[in-house]
Amino acid sequence: MNEKGKLIVISGPSGSGKSTVVNKAIQGREDMCFSTSVTTRSPRPGEVDGKDYFFIDPQRFQEMVERDELLEHAQYVAHSYGTPRAFVEQKLNEGLNVILDIEVQGARQVREKKKDAVLVFIVPPSLDELRRRLVNRGTDAPDVIEARLQRASEELKETELYDYLIINDDLETAAREFTSILTAEHCKVPHRIHLLKDF
Ligand code: ADP
Ligand code: 5GP
Repeated sequence: MNEKGKLIVISGPSGSGKSTVVNKAIQGREDMCFSTSVTTRSPRPGEVDGKDYFFIDPQRFQEMVERDELLEHAQYVAHSYGTPRAFVEQKLNEGLNVILDIEVQGARQVREKKKDAVLVFIVPPSLDELRRRLVNRGTDAPDVIEARLQRASEELKETELYDYLIINDDLETAAREFTSILTAEHCKVPHRIHLLKDF
């Protein structure tokens, strides 16, 4: 019998390096997939509908909420974001690990609904470094960067909800720590005990 997939939530201030760390850590692995969220915000230059997000209007978002099609959903800096439930359930059943890159309110909902989800918080080494990374990334206007920094300070107060904390200073180290978390979680007894049934 195969191992079941793990639901892995990653959160952390926008610009802390979540995508960079996780993409590096899972490069070439076929047991991992990302959930693509729905959002009401507009695409940034270069973002692709259906890959980075499903970009939908507020009415469609509301319909999905009412039909209970979202595993979790939240409001973040004036826009709505949510995780389509069907994709996550299907991939977990296929034995894949599913990564959700979501903010803290959503992570709290996942913790309630999926007791065995693994919650990882990724932070930059300092708020000054976070500002530098957001400016260098060049994807957000100055007022949006200020709003994101404000939100970052609030999010950092919620760290205790999470199982693991990665400080993304050196990228190699952060990616290695993420891989180690995956390995440790798969070795946990509740995750593997069903494999002993034929002994
Ligand atoms: P997030 O997904 O958390 O919003 P990104 O992965 O987009 O963040 O990273 C934000 C910016 O910081 C990007 O330009 C990325 O190249 C850079 N970055 C990520 N990790 C590091 C690191 N360890 N050191 C320096 N820059 C980094
Ligand atoms: P961005 O606009 O930078 O792509 O994302 C803003 C924030 O929304 C990030 O913290 C990201 O993790 C979070 N986010 C993205 N998708 C979802 C989602 O489906 N649900 C929730 N709760 N947050 C999300």
